[in-house]
Amino acid sequence: MSDRRIPFGEEKHREESPCPGCGVYYFEVHAPGCPIEECPECGGQRAECGCDER
Ligand SMILES: [Zn+2]
Ligand SMILES: [Zn+2]
Repeated sequence: MSDRRIPFGEEKHREESPCPGCGVYYFEVHAPGCPIEECPECGGQRAECGCDER
């Protein structure tokens, strides 16, 4: 299980603060399951790609 997290504002596709998925501000870590959080392994949505569950 990877403990690497990409804080809000460091994704390739930066959204306006606060996060539209979980409400955190730039450089805070997303709430668990946030659809905006980017996976550091594959660059996809961390909540859906499944990389964290291996
Ligand atoms: Zn978020
Ligand atoms: Zn992934």
